[in-house]
Amino acid sequence: MNYDVMVIGGGIAGEEVAINLANLGYKIIMVEKDYSIGGKMIHLSKVFPTLDCAACITTPKVSETARHENITIFTHSEVKNIERISDKEFNAELVQHPRYVTNDCTGCSICEDNCPVVVRDEYQFDMVGRKAVFIPFSIASPRIAAIDIENCILCGLCEKVCPADCIDFTQEEEVSGITVKSVVVATGYNLFDASQIQRFGGGEFKNVVTAMQMERQLVPTRPFNTVLRPKDGKMPDNIAYVLCVGSRDKTVGNPICSQVCCMYSTKQAQLLMGALPMADVTIYYINIRAFGKGFNEFYQQTGDMGVEFIKGKVGRITEKEDGNLIVRYEDIESGKLKEAEHDHVVLSVGILANTDYQSMFNNKAVLESDPFNYVKQTQELCCPPKTSIEGVFVAGTAAGPMDIPDSILSAGAASAETASYLRSVKN
Ligand code: SF4
Ligand code: SF4
Repeated sequence: MNYDVMVIGGGIAGEEVAINLANLGYKIIMVEKDYSIGGKMIHLSKVFPTLDCAACITTPKVSETARHENITIFTHSEVKNIERISDKEFNAELVQHPRYVTNDCTGCSICEDNCPVVVRDEYQFDMVGRKAVFIPFSIASPRIAAIDIENCILCGLCEKVCPADCIDFTQEEEVSGITVKSVVVATGYNLFDASQIQRFGGGEFKNVVTAMQMERQLVPTRPFNTVLRPKDGKMPDNIAYVLCVGSRDKTVGNPICSQVCCMYSTKQAQLLMGALPMADVTIYYINIRAFGKGFNEFYQQTGDMGVEFIKGKVGRITEKEDGNLIVRYEDIESGKLKEAEHDHVVLSVGILANTDYQSMFNNKAVLESDPFNYVKQTQELCCPPKTSIEGVFVAGTAAGPMDIPDSILSAGAASAETASYLRSVKN
């Protein structure tokens, strides 16, 4: 298989690069590890500071990527052994993992309805269950079911009920060789695992949730469309946000600012004021970093709406019998130790490097990392998309924490650099 550019990652940055280059006539192969393209953004409610609907921005990009005649997408696939074979070309191995459902799937969900196995739904951040055969989420692309073979009990019910006869347990991993002229790494980020900081009770106290779990509840589509306390299903009326969970914290190995948590928490606070007009919302922060266009005004507007901002470093959260939570914190203004009771706590988790790229290149072509494990930008100031390998570029949060507008800008820069490189290696 020969393409001009391999884009690794199908999130907002990867889509932007693929569409830009495909529109210039280049043939693109997009390799996405997940069952669907769309990345993390497709799971968000609204974006800050405009409060535009996130899905209304992502789904047209997803659809344009999926339908573009110059873009070929491989989902549930990975790339290995990327190796420069000449001045103009890279070879790589494309590994397509089996989804045990053929592309004839119509997405009717009949298999899901009949499957007896229920496991935690990672696409809803473990807040509800999904079946062993499942369509990842309602706006997934491709909207094709997949079988989670680790949890499947091989009862055969899905095979019996599928009207399109597309369950195929004989599928195996397929490895094929690809040749490309250039590579764009747009592998995105990972979320910090809140259970690593035990004193906050993430993963232990049911009414302590992560911001992504709150985000899913705030999304105006299924399965939630309401905010409830996980422990007893009551509507919360006194919600606290704890910022910098897993960011700017050397004790968890991530000393840098995640750049988005202050603003996504402020955005969620505004959305909560709309969803639960009687609720009190408090944000515990160390510093508010509202550095982007319109961010500071958005932050001030949130305060004017009645959200309480407390400059306080939270030390510990404990749970009462009724599920309410006691937040103990150092009030930074007064220097005093204080505590407050809330009935719901949201941990504003930070973002970490997705280090998958480190194993994609063979040892003849090492893609260097920066000190925080993001892809190293070798000319950060004068040419941010350049990496340690000529012809390999980086886009979006694979290069470091950034918000959505900056990811799109970064993808634009990576597209321009890649196009310029392709012209230089032509013929
Ligand atoms: Fe579910 Fe597996 Fe049975 Fe299909 S074979 S219905 S996926 S448990
Ligand atoms: Fe429908 Fe079959 Fe696809 Fe399941 S696998 S969604 S039953 S077409």
